[in-house]
Amino acid sequence: MDPLEQLCEVAASFFQRGYAFGSTGNLSLVLGDSVWITPTGGSLRNLTPDRMARIDFDGNPLNGNKASKEFPFHLAAYKGAGSRARALVHLHCTYSVALSCLDTLDEAEPLPVFTPYYLMRVAPLAVLPYFRPGSADLASAVGASAVDHDSMLLRNHGVICLGSTLEEAVDRTEELEETAKLWFLTRSEKLRLLTSAERADIEKTFRKR
Ligand SMILES: [Zn+2]
Repeated sequence: MDPLEQLCEVAASFFQRGYAFGSTGNLSLVLGDSVWITPTGGSLRNLTPDRMARIDFDGNPLNGNKASKEFPFHLAAYKGAGSRARALVHLHCTYSVALSCLDTLDEAEPLPVFTPYYLMRVAPLAVLPYFRPGSADLASAVGASAVDHDSMLLRNHGVICLGSTLEEAVDRTEELEETAKLWFLTRSEKLRLLTSAERADIEKTFRKR
């Protein structure tokens, strides 16, 4: 499938399943020397490839469509991650945003490790301080975090997941949101966490780095 059609399909799927709502959320892909990003001011529900904005790595427009106003952190993330990242998903999905707003959040380990999938696809999850959406400070923080993180929780805002492919970024985002949901559902229960030996076994078997 054409990569831009795939991007539109993924965006619509996020909207239909309630991961994105209103005009929130933005996604991008690196193709060659340019970044293709969802446009500003619209919903992820019904995008088409001809509406996607194309920009260079300095943020200059390469076609007539206006990029999402959150484009600075997309560019910063790609610069920080280098060749490791080729796709980025940013959503304001409910359970992750709820987690990002908790005053009691443990920033060193924002979610306990109770499933192997969270460990394989999401951890380590970086927690970034609150910055105004679209600001240069947010972009700088994302760029610094992207050097060694593929998953970020933005305080009082949302999530950013990077991937070497769009599928990987999407899987990571969904796993993060579902883990946050499970955590809220079980918050009043005593959870059995993975033991350190179980965690080490997963990391040895599945983790790339
Ligand atoms: Zn946002």
